[in-house]
Amino acid sequence: MNLAECIRNVPDFPKPGIQFKDISTLLLVPEAFRETVRRFRERYAPMDVQGIVGVDARGFVFGGALAYEMGIPFIMARKPGKLPADTVSESYSLEYGEATLEIHRDGIAPGQRVLIMDDLLATGGTVGAVAKMLRKLGGEVVEAAFLVELPPLRGRENLAAMGVPVFSLVEFMVD
Ligand code: AMP
Repeated sequence: MNLAECIRNVPDFPKPGIQFKDISTLLLVPEAFRETVRRFRERYAPMDVQGIVGVDARGFVFGGALAYEMGIPFIMARKPGKLPADTVSESYSLEYGEATLEIHRDGIAPGQRVLIMDDLLATGGTVGAVAKMLRKLGGEVVEAAFLVELPPLRGRENLAAMGVPVFSLVEFMVD
């Protein structure tokens, strides 16, 4: 099944020059959503993954589904002010702006082997910030998984420099 064909390109969103890869159209096709989760499960079921950290908000969709399938904990990395208990936070730059994410301190146990999931890898700033938070809490980042990767934005190289391997299902050569 061609997952790339299920993803809509929206030019100039949220600002001029950005080619927004809209995964909401893939979620409208149940076979495509199931195939996406099946491919992630195929890769991670044989690995020793002890938790999945999903990035607010689209990372919750795929990360939540995979954690359910694998029967392992799901941890939310949320936008500021949403998590009620004690948190760690990290700020970073995006392809189109600045942002901060937070994780509950008690969401990660020291030595826990975790997978980070988001819908799309651009520069790697978002997931790099999540990896920093996880490491602050003593977690071990096994890999970062994405439905979409934009190779020209060099996220894979930027995350490799931090010791975070990348896995993605679909690549688009846009910048
Ligand atoms: P980055 O931190 O640069 O890797 O950007 C990745 C984050 O921003 C992810 O949470 C994406 O959902 C979002 N994002 C960045 N660029 C795009 C894009 N061209 N299309 C859709 N989402 C994007």
